[in-house]
Amino acid sequence: MNAAPVEHLDELQVYADATAGCTRCRLAQGRTQVVFGSGNAHADLMFVGEAPGFHEDKQGVPFVGQAGKLLETLLAGVGMSRQDVYIANVLKCRPPGNRDPAPDEIEACESHLFRQIELIEPTVVATLGNFATKLLSGRPLGITRVHGQEQQTTIGSRSVLLYPLYHPAAALYTPAMLKVLESDFARLPELLGRTPEPARAPEPELALVPPEPPAEQLGLF
Ligand code: URA
Repeated sequence: MNAAPVEHLDELQVYADATAGCTRCRLAQGRTQVVFGSGNAHADLMFVGEAPGFHEDKQGVPFVGQAGKLLETLLAGVGMSRQDVYIANVLKCRPPGNRDPAPDEIEACESHLFRQIELIEPTVVATLGNFATKLLSGRPLGITRVHGQEQQTTIGSRSVLLYPLYHPAAALYTPAMLKVLESDFARLPELLGRTPEPARAPEPELALVPPEPPAEQLGLF
């Protein structure tokens, strides 16, 4: 695990507290609460999903429903638990009826995610599904094309290994996808064992302002 400085943990909590009152987009009106993220603030491995669903909105914790159970099972398969990793989403508030995140909602929320990544300092960021993958890779390629293909990328001031994975909610109902997700998951220990690359000098436009998400609606796969 990272030896994250204690002040970073405090900063993460301060940032979570500040985010709890966020009104940057329309989702503030229908939410029960902001679902900031949960897990180990020292984590080397961070997962980024799509958005809170019904149960997450009620409990204030990401991935507590069926998809979360599968995520826990997959983690156990590589000898890890929720306490070893940090879990967050692209959107911190539940879209009504669990519809797809809208481009303007992603744009309003993305700096919360970038700040989380900066504060947690993971070496590997595993994106779950299309929304997180497209946002953090800055590329329009869908998850079916890029799952299991790690890429070194810069997020804010951090160099991280981005590792796109199928979303567990999609794999729940598609056995073939579940098999692929399991085999992609099995590579996580190897990726976590790699020596982190030093951050590149920030490129002013790319480092802090990721590209606009594509305008079209993106499905889970
Ligand atoms: N799906 C997600 O993408 N995130 C959650 O928190 C729960 C389900």
